[in-house]
Amino acid sequence: MNIRQITAQELLDSRGNPTVEATVYLDRHLKASGMVPSGASTGRHEALELRDDDSQRYLGKGVLGAVRHIHETLAPALLGFDVTDQAGIDRRMIELDGTPDKSRLGANAILAVSIACLRAGALVRQIPFYQYTAELFGKPADEPFVMPVPLTNVLNGGKHAIGSSDLQEYMIVPIGAPSFVEATRWVSEVFHLLKPLVLERGWPTTVGDEGGFAPPVASNEEPLQLIMAAIERAGYMPGEQIVIALDPAASEFYGDGKYRLEKDGLELTSAQMVDLLADWVERYPIVSIEDGLDQEDWDGFARLRDKTGNKVQIVGDDLFVTNPERVRIGAERNAANSVLIKANQIGTITETFGTIKLAREYGMTTIISHRSGETELPFEADFAVGTSAGQVKIGSISRSERVAEYNELMRIERQLDGNAVFARFPFPRQT
Ligand code: PGA
Ligand code: ZN
Repeated sequence: MNIRQITAQELLDSRGNPTVEATVYLDRHLKASGMVPSGASTGRHEALELRDDDSQRYLGKGVLGAVRHIHETLAPALLGFDVTDQAGIDRRMIELDGTPDKSRLGANAILAVSIACLRAGALVRQIPFYQYTAELFGKPADEPFVMPVPLTNVLNGGKHAIGSSDLQEYMIVPIGAPSFVEATRWVSEVFHLLKPLVLERGWPTTVGDEGGFAPPVASNEEPLQLIMAAIERAGYMPGEQIVIALDPAASEFYGDGKYRLEKDGLELTSAQMVDLLADWVERYPIVSIEDGLDQEDWDGFARLRDKTGNKVQIVGDDLFVTNPERVRIGAERNAANSVLIKANQIGTITETFGTIKLAREYGMTTIISHRSGETELPFEADFAVGTSAGQVKIGSISRSERVAEYNELMRIERQLDGNAVFARFPFPRQT
């Protein structure tokens, strides 16, 4: 099945900002689309998201240039390609761009086409999207599908909820659940019981960009206390059944050698920031910390990993930006034991597969992640199952673009009807 036509258009993401949609048409009137999510706390080394910078449109955030690159450059070059030749298609787009960060054509233009081809390939093969992704990724057919453990963001701060905590994300992880469907029920119950706790303090129950509550907490530790109380009210055992994960997104409050926690009135050195996080790990059932330090603070990451005894999952997001070169540095420097995977940080499906495989070679865990500006297509759900990632970060149990991912994963698990295993969360490690 060959590519007959590719079209693109400017649509909006979950924050109402422009994003790119590409549609690949095949013979026999089959077509599939891909849309690209967008970050707010983006890493310095991410592939470039091309925006028009025309202040007359969408405050400069238009993507008509990226749309034009699809029509004028990518579409003509890809006509006639076998749509199931994902690696060949992605390689050709990388060549046409010719820059290390996809800044000529835009990672948003390239990824929209890359995702559209992946979805179209599943149509050609007439198998579910997650199953086609698994075939391309190279999952052995005799191994069961793995349903990922969700890291569910219930309290938003940082750039996703101005006025809330300095730290960006407080998540709950239902490690004791027997299945994804049950895991979703557990986190939903905790999320809903967090609401009265927020109300009891006289705070508004507004939610942030990823659907977690965004209250004006008095300190950055207070959300941990609230979440512990919500887990207990829901009748689950903190530490046994449900544990906590953090994404401070520390690059956002780091500058001039200091970590500035305004809520706490603190200005910390890297070593002090590590001490603060390590102290929380002692006092709360925290099993995963993403971007606890700034994106260039490799030594800080390594210190945190050391200090938490490798028992805690230390995740690089802005640190690694899904980039194999940075994952290699991180592995050599012992900076992290987990890689957050966001396709739009690197720009093609094939490169994203490569980074996941590299992380595994280094014995690192992988978490398939949404962005704070999402699309209505629940891409990450199928992608996480297809790559046997083991973990998925898809936001809260509110806002349709987040809930769509949970729903898609529940559909997949039920469709697999007992032939899937629910991933075991590999932390805290008993070493
Ligand atoms: P972003 O945030 O999509 O705004 O970059 C998500 C994250 O930091 O994990
Ligand atoms: Zn992050």
